Amino acid sequence: MSQGNLSRSTIALTLEPSSIELLATESSICAIVITSATTGHIPISDCEICAHLYSHNYVDLRDNSRLPDHIAILTGTSVTSRPAQDVIECPVCGSFYAYTYTCGFTENDIELRRITPVEAGRELNLEACIADLGSPHEETRGYAAQCLVEYYLSKEQEEKTAYLLNHEDEIIRSYAEASQKYYLYHKSLKA
Ligand SMILES: [Zn+2]
Repeated sequence: MSQGNLSRSTIALTLEPSSIELLATESSICAIVITSATTGHIPISDCEICAHLYSHNYVDLRDNSRLPDHIAILTGTSVTSRPAQDVIECPVCGSFYAYTYTCGFTENDIELRRITPVEAGRELNLEACIADLGSPHEETRGYAAQCLVEYYLSKEQEEKTAYLLNHEDEIIRSYAEASQKYYLYHKSLKA
């Protein structure tokens, strides 16, 4: 293998973690591999955390003495370690979740709802979202449609919103429609 003939993208897409370890002894190429591998976009269906979560997760702490592992990775194991309402970003794929802890006389529960970058007040990776519309995984296509519709509505790009609302893929259509309703409802509350 000649190092000089390899492009960055070729290395990042074709090497397994075990190969990266082997290359660690060849210091000049190792840095390139790690940099490329950690900046790539990861769809939620391929995320080792989010693939195990629903778009809306609920845990009643009266019935569960400990949080399920994939929720605890995001929230931490102690409910006192963060504010009762918070936005959490997945450290692996960068998806956002609205976290709510409710504690009262008859309730003690946690909700973790997947939200879009627009709702989280963060930048949207437009290119990655558009690419995710073509994913074979429904969860990834749906979340991409949800993110894009809120983004297009926030930018008043009606044609692009309409394209998703009338998309041939039923998953994209239904997420787009739900996302539009959600966005317009919350906008009306703020008005
Ligand atoms: Zn994730």
